[in-house]
Amino acid sequence: MDARAGDDCRHVVIIGTGQAGFQAAASLRDNGFAGTIRLVGDEDGLPYQRPPLSKAYLAGTTDRSTLALRQAAFFTQANIDITAGRRAIAIDRTSRQVSLDDGIALPYDHLVLATGTRNRRLAVPGSDLDGVAYLRTATEGDWLRGRLAGVERVVIVGAGFIGLELTAFAAARGCAVTVLEAAARPMARALSTTMSSFFQRAHETAGVRFVFDAAVTRLIGPKGYVTAVETADGVRHAADLVLVGIGVVPNIELAADAGLATDNGIVVDAHLATDDPAISAIGDCAAFPQPFADGLRGRIESVQNAVDHARCVAARLTGAAQPYGAVPWFWSDQGPLKLQIAGLPAPHDHHVVRGDPDSRAFSVFCFRDGRLAGVESVNRPGDHMVGRRLLGTALTPAQAADPTFDLKALASARAAAA
Ligand code: FAD
Ligand code: NAP
Repeated sequence: MDARAGDDCRHVVIIGTGQAGFQAAASLRDNGFAGTIRLVGDEDGLPYQRPPLSKAYLAGTTDRSTLALRQAAFFTQANIDITAGRRAIAIDRTSRQVSLDDGIALPYDHLVLATGTRNRRLAVPGSDLDGVAYLRTATEGDWLRGRLAGVERVVIVGAGFIGLELTAFAAARGCAVTVLEAAARPMARALSTTMSSFFQRAHETAGVRFVFDAAVTRLIGPKGYVTAVETADGVRHAADLVLVGIGVVPNIELAADAGLATDNGIVVDAHLATDDPAISAIGDCAAFPQPFADGLRGRIESVQNAVDHARCVAARLTGAAQPYGAVPWFWSDQGPLKLQIAGLPAPHDHHVVRGDPDSRAFSVFCFRDGRLAGVESVNRPGDHMVGRRLLGTALTPAQAADPTFDLKALASARAAAA
């Protein structure tokens, strides 16, 4: 348990002004925390949300201020001190200070690491050519939406969430889109084979071309800007713009250099505390024992996870400690298709379909060891909401697949019995 919680904790420093860092600061104040809160991030400007960057923001009809999680007045009123455009470079755990890259050292009673992730880079010749894009920051979003307005042929490397959201947008704008994916199907790490196939077909119907088991070997651009992507079979895929969305790596170096345990993330316990009780880690960077994955340690990259982690730590620091137990859920908007995921469907050993994929409104219920592990829904928000309440129960596959079976009644009965 955290020795720094309660009355001993007067100075909280939070590193990272993303979704998790922002929420930790806001929730501390919501919970009545009266000490100092310093929020430090290496990006410029106010904390902002990333999801619109691969969705509505691409249309170019809104300005950057619409991305802000709160306007400046909120931070002034809540007495949250923001230092933007500054990087934390070292933690002195003995004197409890964190040093910034401008030479300032901030003392803390509790330090919250919310350092997030960065995009994995494509390490092949030509990957620094003009016209090769990544998407994580608002600056990259601004560049991308400007460039998308003037291109015809788009190659997307990676059929994950970023890749396919961009795919839907570019195809709807009339671009010829080719998706090169290393795995054998889209969103393979997150979704069932049924849901992968559905999204593949939906994108293909919109004119998108997929290449699976693809190994990108180089990007070609004799004049300094990219004109094609070459794969290991020697095929050249013509491109005016290449968007690389091949996953992320967690920002763990600050923690690791300070001697904290790391393992594809900053290792934390069920209370999201690191092995130093005066330091917590939250959001994309935190590797935590996941209650909805049989306690296996792992990271979750989502808004819900960032927000609920932050709330959990803020509660602990204000005297209401609870182990982290929030239900994971996600969404992805790909053109007219709204995918919602409750729980962690992967891995699973059995899945069934509820509804009709041809109607473009259906759900896939995924089971692991006889228990409901996750529900993937397309344009069926009711299934998603009830799915969140039924996770971990012994709902049978036959009940899930039966459209006349009342899932809501089962969830209510379960809640009443709890
Ligand atoms: P981050 O948002 O990565 O914030 C961490 C911050 O810390 C960054 O600003 C980073 O620069 C900074 N930082 C790192 N190290 C230091 C340091 N040493 N000193 C100072 N600052 C530092 N999730 C969903 O659930 N649904 C979606 O639809 C969705 N869409 C997305 C679309 C895009 C384009 C992207 C990129 C992500 C999307 N996500 C979505 C994922 C979601 O945005 C992330 O899970 C969430 O932002 C994680 O928040 P975080 O605060 O943990 O990390
Ligand atoms: P992602 O969802 O992890 O998908 C990356 C995909 O690229 C995976 O299918 C991966 O296959 C594949 N890949 C890896 N290396 C490759 C290579 N060299 N060539 C071709 N394909 C390759 O990551 P992302 O789409 O890049 O998204 C980045 C981050 O943004 C993640 O944190 C994600 O959660 C977040 N995001 C979330 C949403 C959402 O929730 N709606 C939307 C956008 C972004 P393997 O799995 O086999 O490695």
